[in-house]
Amino acid sequence: MKEIYRHHEMINVANFRDILLDAEIPCIIRNETLAMSGITEIPIPEFFPNLCVMDDEDEERALQLLKDHQARMSAGSELEKTCPACQETNPGNFDVCFACQEPLTEIKPC
Ligand SMILES: [Zn+2]
Repeated sequence: MKEIYRHHEMINVANFRDILLDAEIPCIIRNETLAMSGITEIPIPEFFPNLCVMDDEDEERALQLLKDHQARMSAGSELEKTCPACQETNPGNFDVCFACQEPLTEIKPC
């Protein structure tokens, strides 16, 4: 078992767990109960919820997935896409228009 991610916000750790589960990488969150009980209000990194892959061999793949995810997140905040069908502006990390569900292809800088 290998720890690959640690954060004081449970929601961030849970998000990454969902990504790994989507990729069918077995993983668990440690300190989840501590996080829920509010003990992590005390900023001691040892008590932060952390995400571990069950199989050490999955570590590299898992880290790559997390990196891709973070890259997508930061790219999304810098770029916007204009819907070719209805001209609505969508966040750059959207694949389809939130207004009309047309696929988004155009990318323009903010
Ligand atoms: Zn649209």
